[in-house]
Amino acid sequence: MIKLRSLRARIFLLILVIGLVPCIVMRHGIVSNYEDMAVEQRITVVQNQLMILANHLVSNNYLSSHGVREDTGNSREVINAELEMLSNLYEGRVMIINKNFKVEKDTYGISEGKTIISEEVIKCFQGENISHYDPEHGYIEMTTPIMDTTANTTDENGKKNPDAIRGVMLTSISNDSIVNAREVLNRKAYIMEVIMIVAILALAILLSRVLTMPFNRVTQAINAVREGFSDETISVPDYVETVHIVDAFNQLLKRMKALDDSRQEFVANVSHELKTPMTSIKVLADSLLAQDDAPAELYREFMEDITSEIDRENQIITDLLALVKMDKKVQDLNIVSLNINDLTELILKRLRPIARKKDVEVVFESVRPVVAEVDEVKMTLIMTNLVENAIKYNKDHGWVKVVLDADHQYFTFEVSDSGIGIPEESLAHICERFYRVDKSHSREIGGTGLGLAITKSAVLMHKGSLTVTSTEGQGSCFLVKIPLMYIAS
Ligand code: ADP
Repeated sequence: MIKLRSLRARIFLLILVIGLVPCIVMRHGIVSNYEDMAVEQRITVVQNQLMILANHLVSNNYLSSHGVREDTGNSREVINAELEMLSNLYEGRVMIINKNFKVEKDTYGISEGKTIISEEVIKCFQGENISHYDPEHGYIEMTTPIMDTTANTTDENGKKNPDAIRGVMLTSISNDSIVNAREVLNRKAYIMEVIMIVAILALAILLSRVLTMPFNRVTQAINAVREGFSDETISVPDYVETVHIVDAFNQLLKRMKALDDSRQEFVANVSHELKTPMTSIKVLADSLLAQDDAPAELYREFMEDITSEIDRENQIITDLLALVKMDKKVQDLNIVSLNINDLTELILKRLRPIARKKDVEVVFESVRPVVAEVDEVKMTLIMTNLVENAIKYNKDHGWVKVVLDADHQYFTFEVSDSGIGIPEESLAHICERFYRVDKSHSREIGGTGLGLAITKSAVLMHKGSLTVTSTEGQGSCFLVKIPLMYIAS
């Protein structure tokens, strides 16, 4: 069943309405206009003939002047014949009324000698032509003045001069032929209309099917991808719209593939990272077991190594858990208004003992007091990771500088160091999970490669940005920019 909400149903209805409405309106318009026009035309034709006849009447003195008829013999017969012909031709009746409102001639022969004083006749004597159509009874009635052309036929206003009117012709003709013609026309128009309706219906069915076909193709292609028959990008170039839909779908597919790839890579990396300490522990334990009489010092030394491998395993798991937490939704943020200066002081206080071990000087420059809406735990993670890295990847006797500043919209937390720096080709990757510039060096230092990934996620959750600049061998600078006011989206 076709649903009304479907594009196909809408195209079908649209074509139907656009096609049928003018068709029906046109039939009614043509038929009713035809009737009006035919009546008008007939009135004009009959009026013209009556005028000619009226002139004949006057020129042949047909009418009795002042009530006394002057018989003119033959010509009278001729005019009577003309009148008969006219009334036969138009299936009508012509009455000639003289100035005394007396009927001098009636083609029906019933009213001759009678007096007719009707509104139309009086008006006609006053110079006004009247025609009237009565569709109910099926006749047209009209009056024609019989003008004496020898007198002044028009007055000074250009109107008919009543003094020149010698009599009036009162004519009524049947409209049967018009009605018949209208019926024939109506029937033909009706047949045409039915043919048109069938044609439009067929066109609507065909077009609605053809026009929506590309959308079906899009669905089929997407289904094929979903069901796993194809993982190729799809293409339906029929319409600009389908190209847009398909493009959007292909982008989504690409993103999902990338996501899937990165997940797989992440799982592989996690397994590998977790396996490394385990392998070391196994090797250490095996070599102890292999020696029957291993001295106690060797045991002690190996056990220390095993403990440090377990610590490392622990560290990796802790970082992984932190990262997984970051991947959760933004709703988990616990936003509070926080004094960032105090927080920085606290973090630096915690990290100074580590810096002291490497004889790294940590300097804090607070340009202005900053209070911002942030999640305290995540903000602590960001700051700790950056400052810790700046200390870890520093040279002995180096320095770390932390600058806190703000404008009316954002606050900036900048950590620069005099450390080993990051090679240019690695800059784009350092925030990836498990990425380390120099694996062996980083391991020695105790890094898991997850710190910056965690930091970046936490910054993005605050709708902030993290930018890194670095020169290898000279030092690095990490700049965090976070809005002062948190706006939930
Ligand atoms: P890790 O736990 O190994 O420190 P991070 O994600 O914090 O992992 O850092 C990723 C890599 O980026 C590090 O292994 C290191 O090579 C490089 N790196 C991070 N911070 C700095 C820095 N301040 N100076 C030089 N290299 C850095």
